[in-house]
Amino acid sequence: MFNLMFSIFPILFVVVFGFIIYMSFRTFSTSGQIFRLAQQRMKQELEASQPKPPRNCDYCGSSLEPDETECHDCGADVTHDNKG
Ligand SMILES: [Zn+2]
Repeated sequence: MFNLMFSIFPILFVVVFGFIIYMSFRTFSTSGQIFRLAQQRMKQELEASQPKPPRNCDYCGSSLEPDETECHDCGADVTHDNKG
């Protein structure tokens, strides 16, 4: 009876130890994913929080809201980017 226990114990130890290593590896890789996701999210929020450059109507020069597609003053189409 004791002999059986002594032969099983090392196997059990190896199995449990292997499981712990496996779980820690899994946790590590998962936390790495979470870290990457959080980094991505932070970057997105940073970009969203940055103020957009002020836009002016090409035709009448009045200031426009960032999401405006039409000048509220003269009605000109302002969907194009002023950069080019
Ligand atoms: Zn205008």
